[in-house]
Amino acid sequence: MLNGISFSDNRLQISASNDIEPSVFKMDAPDRIVIDLPQTSFSEQFASALLLDDSMRGQFAVADHPSVSQVRYALFTSNPDTVRIVLDLKAPSPYTVTRDGLGLITIDLTESTAVTPFPSGGSGKKIVVIDPGHGGTQPGASSKSKKVEKDFTLAVGLKVQALLEQEPDIDFVLTRTTDVTVSLQDRAKLANDLKADLFISIHGNSIDPPANPSGSETYYTRERAFHWRM
Ligand SMILES: [Zn+2]
Repeated sequence: MLNGISFSDNRLQISASNDIEPSVFKMDAPDRIVIDLPQTSFSEQFASALLLDDSMRGQFAVADHPSVSQVRYALFTSNPDTVRIVLDLKAPSPYTVTRDGLGLITIDLTESTAVTPFPSGGSGKKIVVIDPGHGGTQPGASSKSKKVEKDFTLAVGLKVQALLEQEPDIDFVLTRTTDVTVSLQDRAKLANDLKADLFISIHGNSIDPPANPSGSETYYTRERAFHWRM
């Protein structure tokens, strides 16, 4: 039986009267994290503490959170019973799931996107943020051979990393080194927090035939104007 759900800070806690193996997965458009609890229904304790309507549904808002807007819950199937809990997100967020074996399930939203050690700063070295575009649930463009942009950008990003490792005067951080979803806001925040000297965002754009582009594009800002070169 499910006894309670609470959300505070970056943590969703689900308390049940017995250990439950949840099925947790992401969905997008809109972004959300779904937690299915098999062989579970709402206890009387739950119904007395949290809103539950006649169709066995309810929700509560999460105020002032950067990435979560509300928590919804419902008896998703009956006979066998499954409770579904949905965390509605404003932007995709990675998460971890832990169980204490006694009925407490904890979903932690993990916001950190820095995957290599932060440069110490003050060393006089230039700080470069390498940003492989897209990733995770965001594949980006598809090529003729059906390869997706997120894999291309990660491969190029790791090559840039290997080159910068040979530069003694440059510290660098990647916004991602694996196939994970990172929001545009988190990418920019990382660079701003580090006071990076350079932010390099790698993309591979596509265009429909019969256009036949070649070469590379570089977008940059200079003297408040926006330029591109091809
Ligand atoms: Zn792109």
